[in-house]
Order: sequence, then C-alpha cells, then structure tokens
Amino acid sequence: MSLPTSIDVLIVGAGPTGVTLGNLLGRYGVSALIIDKAADVLTHPRAIALDNEALRILQMAGLSEDAFARVAIPCVRMHSPYFGEFAHFKTTGCLDGHPKLVTFFQPELEHALRRQMQAYSQIVLAQQTELVSFSETRSGIDAELKTADGNRHVVNARYLIGADGASSRVRELLELGFQGATYIEDWLIIDASKTAKPMDHIEFICDPKRPTPHMPAPAGRERWEFMLQPGETREQMLQPEKIRQLLTPWAKPDEVSIERSAVYRFHARVVSKFQKGRAFLIGDAAHITPPFVGQGLCAGLRDAANLGWKLAWVIHGRAAPQILDTYDTERRQHAADMIALATLMGKLIMPSNAIKAFFTHGLVRLLRSLPIIGAWIDDLKIKPENRFHDGLLVKGKSTSALVRGSHFPQALLRHADGAYAWSDDALGDHLSLVGFGIDPATLLTADQLARWQAVGGRCFQLCYRGQALCRSVGANVWEDINGEMLPSLAPIGWLAVVRPDHSIITDGPSVDAATLIDASIDLLSAPKTPPTAVTD
Ligand SMILES: Cc1cc2nc3c(=O)[nH]c(=O)nc-3n(C[C@H](O)[C@H](O)[C@H](O)COP(=O)(O)OP(=O)(O)OC[C@H]3O[C@@H](n4cnc5c(N)ncnc54)[C@H](O)[C@@H]3O)c2cc1C
Repeated sequence: MSLPTSIDVLIVGAGPTGVTLGNLLGRYGVSALIIDKAADVLTHPRAIALDNEALRILQMAGLSEDAFARVAIPCVRMHSPYFGEFAHFKTTGCLDGHPKLVTFFQPELEHALRRQMQAYSQIVLAQQTELVSFSETRSGIDAELKTADGNRHVVNARYLIGADGASSRVRELLELGFQGATYIEDWLIIDASKTAKPMDHIEFICDPKRPTPHMPAPAGRERWEFMLQPGETREQMLQPEKIRQLLTPWAKPDEVSIERSAVYRFHARVVSKFQKGRAFLIGDAAHITPPFVGQGLCAGLRDAANLGWKLAWVIHGRAAPQILDTYDTERRQHAADMIALATLMGKLIMPSNAIKAFFTHGLVRLLRSLPIIGAWIDDLKIKPENRFHDGLLVKGKSTSALVRGSHFPQALLRHADGAYAWSDDALGDHLSLVGFGIDPATLLTADQLARWQAVGGRCFQLCYRGQALCRSVGANVWEDINGEMLPSLAPIGWLAVVRPDHSIITDGPSVDAATLIDASIDLLSAPKTPPTAVTD
C-alpha cells in the first residue's frame, strides 16, 4: 500500500477510539491516515460494558444496531459477605434511544468499526505501521513512520491524534505528565462459556478475600474478574486448571469452555493536557481508569465525538483553529470525574480487609435506606453528568428543560415524507437551529440564513405527531412520534442551537433567533485564547 505524504489528520492507533474518530472524520469529509503498529485488532479481554452515551456515539459513527452483538443489562447487584445484596443499581430501559447498559465483545465492535470506515475513500488505514517521531511546523505536523516493510515514510498532517493507548508514544513525545496512581493488585480476567444458562445481570461479589465481578455477554459468554491474593502469581492464575477451579461456584470444570484470559494491573491516570499545539490525545492515551464502572472506552468515544466535528469545522474553514482548545476544556474534567467514580467503586468492590468491608458495605446499605439518597444511588445519579460549563456554549441557564453544555435528547421522529428516523440521524452532520413547532428559517433574513449556512448551519423543525399542517410546510419538518420532545423539552416557539456532537450551544424564544445564531457564529470564529506559539 502506498501511503499519502500529505493528509488532513494523522491518527496514531487504530483501537476503538482512533477508528471511531476515523469514521466521524469520514462522515464530515475530512481526509485521515490511521496507522497501527499491530497487524489486526487486539483480542485481549478488555472492554465488555458500554452505556447509552457510548452507543449513541457509535450510532453517530455510522454503526447500526445490528453492527455488533450486545446484551442489555437490567441491573447491577453488589453482594457483601456480611449483608448480602447491599447495593442494587437499576439499569433497565433506554435513554436517548439506547439501552442504559449493555455488554458486548470488543474485537467484534472493532471489526465493525473498521468495516464501516471502508465507506470513506479518504480515510486510509495502515496496519503494521508505527509512529517513530514527529515535529510541529507552522502549518502542520511532520511525522516519521516505520512501515510494514521496515521502511521509513514521512507524512505531513495538519493535525496529529494520539489514539495509541495507555503506553502512548504520542504522549511521551509531547512530554505530558500522566498523573494519578497505579493499583498494587493484579486481576485475572476470564472470558468463558458454560453449559448452564448465563445470568441476566451483573454481579459484584465484594468479598475482601476474593473480590469477583461477574457478568454475561453476547453469544453465551460470561466474564469473571478475580483479584489475585498475596503470593499468587500471574503464571499460576493463567493455568487452565486454576481457572476451572476458580469457576467451580458457577459450573463444574468439564462444563466450562475458556475463551481467553489475561492478568492486568489497573491504573487511574489523566494526562495534564489533552492538547499540545497541533497534537491531541484521545482514549486511553489521555486517561486510563480501573474498569469497575465500565467507562474507559466510553470516555474515549466521548473524546472522539467531541473532537471530531471541531477538527472538521476548522479544516473546512468554518471555524477558527482556537475552537480546538475547547476539546481539553470540555473533556478533561469529565474524564477525571469518571475515574474518581471508578476509584470509589473500587473501594466497595475490593475493601482491603474484613473490617473495611463491614463498614463500607454497611454504610452504603444504610444510605440506601434513606428515601432520596437511596433513589439517587439506585438510579445511578451518582454517575457524573456529561456536561461542560466552559467551552463552546453560551453560558446561562435556560428557562426550558434544555441544558446548555449538555446533550440534546434523542427521540424517534417521522419526516414530512413519512420516513422514520432517530433525531440524531435526522439532525445529521450539521450545526442545527431547531425550532419547537416553528420553522426557524422563517425567523431569519436571507442574509442571516446565508451566514448560518456558511458555518455549516441548518434549520430544523419539530412538530407534534399528526400535525398535518406541518407535514406540508417544508423539507426539514419532523414529527415527535412519542411526544418526548414537545412540549416536555421546550414550549412551542422555542429554539435551540445544537452542535454536530449533539451538545446544546444555546437556546431561547423565537424572537431571539438572530441573536442565537449570531452568538453561535461568534463562538466559532472569535479566538478565546491567544494561539499557541509554534516554531518551525
Ligand atoms: C480488563 C479490562 C476491562 C475493561 N472494561 C471496560 C468496560 O467494560 N467498558 C469500557 O468502556 N472500557 C473498559 N475497558 C477499557 C477499554 O478496553 C479501553 O479504554 C479501550 O480499549 C481503549 O481504546 P483506545 O482505542 O483508546 O486504545 P487501545 O485499544 O489500546 O488502542 C491503541 C492502539 O494503538 C496502537 N499503537 C500503540 N502505539 C503505537 C504506535 N507508536 N504507532 C502505531 N500504533 C500504535 C496499538 O497497537 C493499539 O491498536 C477495560 C479495560 C480492561 C483492561
């Protein structure tokens, strides 16, 4: 394969976050080279759970619901040796069009993402190709690669993305600190199937002697995670006889078929900056978390969604390069908050001794007996909201139910031509001025509309189900089929500006239509911070 010498974006690392970003850039019409030093997707037992936000981003990256198998998880049960079930997180149902929690098989997801990326001729994947070094110039990045045949190749890219995992070479070359801690315990991860039917939920056996998370996965798989005890070695724990012995509480040794196993040591670390000059870090290169709340990959997907459209808008000349600074502002705190939650969960799952287990499990049980706090814990309100307070948003509180800096909810819609679509697909790859029961285009002058379209803006009208009047009005009119948006999100006559990653920039009444688009255009064009000085 001949590699390009000049490209918009060079992505180092074709793991799930790098390839998700590749798909998003493909959708937005940006060219990218994705390199990976490995010959194929990694097959170690790693991510198994995804939340509704991650599934929504994969939808944005072009994956249909059947692109990879998933199992919806109705609840997560935490068991204490002293109190029995001491916590119970409810994960039944859907949010924004997706189950709140599913399990899946990571290699299958990665293959699906790579297949989807073939839809874009301008996105090139080069396997067995490694980043050696790079330097930043005034106009881009010159990167030296070592190709599959052992040769050196230099590529010039406008932007460089380090999606190269926990031991990121890009992060190392950027000389950015990776602050946090590494756990002292090792964990054995086993993916296996057994003849008896798997359970339908996730259980955490929080026994200080042997903490054990256990969960079902697609195709009859189950995952067990066993914390190693002092004196146990990796080699001993990976022996098939040892694994079968560990699984005896769930199945007889001859009823188990072991698919894969690995021993890991977990980390809780965040890089000091997600961006340096023209280089950006996403996924495990930027943050690594213990897997106790299943959020490592979810966080990487959020990175890709946040950064992808910003790169595209800058590369297409619709926005100033300074908007790229907001990637760090909008993402780093949330990634750190999620790691803090995982660390807290770790304290419940793996208390270091019986006394700590007794008191922590007892405290959670007590808190759950209190009406408001109990519901807050059970309904997972403890999970940090994916919302930013600084960045590409117009600050201020809305009088509607819309939250600026948070996500525009997803609902099922029907187009004026009768076709059904999820609202994210209907909004598409645009900045959207959404009118609740009103066509926003009718509120703008021709000049304002032209300025809005020049920055990738589009107008979009939502109306009540069965509003025949609306169905004849214009091309971009959609009915809210289950009444999830109108009027619960905002009253008739309200407007919202929604980014391509579905974050809400601003909102207000229809009389403010021009002000709302002007403020949004200003955000895209006005430098918020002085540009980073770069030397040739
Ligand atoms: C036991 C365990 C359980 C987990 N469970 C969950 C879970 O339930 N839910 C969840 O969301 N997350 C979970 N995670 C985390 C999740 O697996 C990771 O966050 C995710 O795989 C990271 O994806 P990535 O694309 O950022 O990095 P990676 O998947 O690590 O990909 C990085 C890629 O970069 C390539 N590369 C590295 N250096 C170079 C170089 N110099 N040049 C070229 N290529 C390079 C590598 O070959 C690799 O393909 C779990 C992790 C573990 C270990």
